[in-house]
Amino acid sequence: MNFQLSPEQREFRDSVRRFAEKHLAAGARERAHASGYPWDVAKLMAKQGLLGITIAEADGGQGGSLIDAVLAIEAVAQSCPRSADVVQAGNFGPIRVLAEYGSESHKKKFLKKLLEGEAVISVGMTEPDAGSAVTDLKTSATKVDGGYRIKGSKVFTTHSAYADLILTYVRFGPGVGGIGSVLIQSKDVKRGKASAFMSGEEWAELQFDDLFVPDDMVLLGEGGFKKQMAGFNVERIGNTSRSLALGRYAYERARQWALQRKQFGKLLCEFQGIQWKFAEMKIKLDAGQLLLYRAAANADRGFPSAEETAIAKAFCNQAGFEVANEALQVMGGMGYSQEELVEYCVRRCRGWMIAGGSIEILKNRIAEGIFERQFSQR
Ligand SMILES: Cc1cc2nc3c(=O)[nH]c(=O)nc-3n(C[C@H](O)[C@H](O)[C@H](O)COP(=O)(O)OP(=O)(O)OC[C@H]3O[C@@H](n4cnc5c(N)ncnc54)[C@H](O)[C@@H]3O)c2cc1C
Repeated sequence: MNFQLSPEQREFRDSVRRFAEKHLAAGARERAHASGYPWDVAKLMAKQGLLGITIAEADGGQGGSLIDAVLAIEAVAQSCPRSADVVQAGNFGPIRVLAEYGSESHKKKFLKKLLEGEAVISVGMTEPDAGSAVTDLKTSATKVDGGYRIKGSKVFTTHSAYADLILTYVRFGPGVGGIGSVLIQSKDVKRGKASAFMSGEEWAELQFDDLFVPDDMVLLGEGGFKKQMAGFNVERIGNTSRSLALGRYAYERARQWALQRKQFGKLLCEFQGIQWKFAEMKIKLDAGQLLLYRAAANADRGFPSAEETAIAKAFCNQAGFEVANEALQVMGGMGYSQEELVEYCVRRCRGWMIAGGSIEILKNRIAEGIFERQFSQR
């Protein structure tokens, strides 16, 4: 057993750290509070080879491993938490599913722009009546001459305000076997009332009123749900990485604070009540790191196991939030203020406890592994 990164992995991580310190650290606070997508960061990252890390070189990616992509998120978040979302969008989410299952024409038409940092792709799974029970989704794809008519709607779709493309889960027929996906260009989609999450990220209901989608925009047809979810585990690893990375960012800010802030004539780090907070934070971060690296390293270039991903995500979502929240407490009023990014980390980490498979749903999946049987939630 080896708990060390390889020399190549260390070199890669350090080079991304240097890149982030040089190009991203300065604007980190403004970026976290700005709306829209940081396109300048996306283009810089494309040049640096940080988009498509795990995508095959033949498809325009870097041919690296999942652990490389995790290291990139961690290294970027250390300087700029918001920019870690760009690593996510360019490596972990629907882009990875598109690269895996897309046709040559999909890749030519869409992947190139995504890898150049000139476009972003969203995933539309959740519907008003199908959240955790995603297989209850109703958005239908009805066959017509030359394509499909899409009818239904999606909610909470991250990046949808500026994404070019939405990888949309649809129902071609009844049951789980009837679920697949189509690619929809967002310029064709009607939007409901604009809203925002606690994190500040914007979303609006996406409405498909018999929207025509040509045959060649089907990504995975009927029976594609399992493959889709296998790809979605990669997205979960990205969420897991960001939870832990933002928790670590907040921890590091609080550590620096405790080393210089004095009350009652003593440094905060000299109070045992504060020391124990840090000890608990460090235990959570280190434990989460091991679970995350296990899931990512075992996946290598492929897709991670559903069970190891669920364990890592459930733990790191909780740990990231708790650590960021405790870091905020250590920093008092300054931690709660927008002068610092710690409050931003708390708000972002809170969302990942719900997004991409809530902690409760992940625990249901873990229990199935423990008892070696499936428990219907219906
Ligand atoms: C920040 C953020 C980003 C998101 N981005 C996207 C995106 O890009 N694309 C997309 O499609 N969706 C996205 N979502 C939606 C997300 O996937 C759903 O919010 C999530 O699946 C939960 O669904 P729900 O909100 O409808 O809650 P519900 O399913 O209604 O659940 C409510 C509560 O009940 C719990 N619960 C439900 N069923 C069970 C059960 N069987 N056992 C125990 N507890 C249960 C849940 O864990 C939750 O705590 C995002 C959400 C957030 C918060």
